Amino acid sequence: MATDSPAMIRVAVTGAAGRMGREVVRAVLEAEGLELAAAIDTHEVGVDAGTLAGTAAAGIAVGSELDSALTRTQPHVLVDFTLPHSVLANLRLALAHGVSPVVGTTGLSAESLAEVDRAAREKGIGAFVAPNFAIGAVLMMQFAAQAAKYLPDVEIIELHHDRKVDSPSGTALLTAQKIGEARRAAAVSPVAEPGGLVEKAPGARGARAGITGDVPIHSVRLPGFVAHQEVIFGGVGQVLTLRHDSIDRRSFMPGVILAVRKVRGLNGLVVGLENLLN
Ligand code: NAP
Repeated sequence: MATDSPAMIRVAVTGAAGRMGREVVRAVLEAEGLELAAAIDTHEVGVDAGTLAGTAAAGIAVGSELDSALTRTQPHVLVDFTLPHSVLANLRLALAHGVSPVVGTTGLSAESLAEVDRAAREKGIGAFVAPNFAIGAVLMMQFAAQAAKYLPDVEIIELHHDRKVDSPSGTALLTAQKIGEARRAAAVSPVAEPGGLVEKAPGARGARAGITGDVPIHSVRLPGFVAHQEVIFGGVGQVLTLRHDSIDRRSFMPGVILAVRKVRGLNGLVVGLENLLN
């Protein structure tokens, strides 16, 4: 029942009753040229999505069935801010319906991202994933990659609210990956640790294997935080700290709306907001 002007981008939101999903619903309702087509969640089913998002009633009730909602409402784009255990199934459904996904949910594995890319290419449509939709966080990652060429000794501390289920954060992992790439490109490496170090409590020195590369990541989970990260570079006689703070979830919305506007112009999967900025 896609009845509106073809210029309108019709947007479905999964996780619409969550902390991020409510912000997305409000941002879509407020954005010019965007129309909320469907709102899906396991909570608040039947409640008006606009009212739930703290704005005027949208005339769209939260539903629990994504597949039938996609058939019925025929959106162009699906914005997913759910949870690591749900996101892939939602993306498979969206892609099967020819709907371009814009994904904020973190925790997708490299295999899952490859599957999304394959499925999007098979359908001839775009898909977009960003571990962080805040422009300040994207700049922090770019600055970190630049600094790592000159100061290769670096550790990351990421701090999030206590309800975040995955750790380390997607932003911390992407920052570590970019630092690794920059160090390799500049042929620099961190100073080797002295032998005989003792980690009296396991994990005290952070996560530092596998997907984190060799950049230690320390994850803090406490009430009061939203999403924050420090990248700390140590050199002889000096320390450089890059810090980004998302103090309100609205910080992510300009990035989400930009991705909604641009995703249909992509071919296959693009990861990272920096790829949409220029
Ligand atoms: P949240 O408040 O827990 O919201 C997630 C919502 O999605 C919950 O209501 C959840 O219901 C619902 N849900 C779970 N499975 C679903 C499904 N299959 N279909 C529809 N809804 C489903 O979490 P949040 O704080 O909003 O964060 C959501 C995700 O966004 C997390 O992965 C977080 O790390 C990520 N995030 C990304 C960015 C970014 O910039 N990329 C920024 C902030 C957060 P149940 O509780 O019943 O599972």
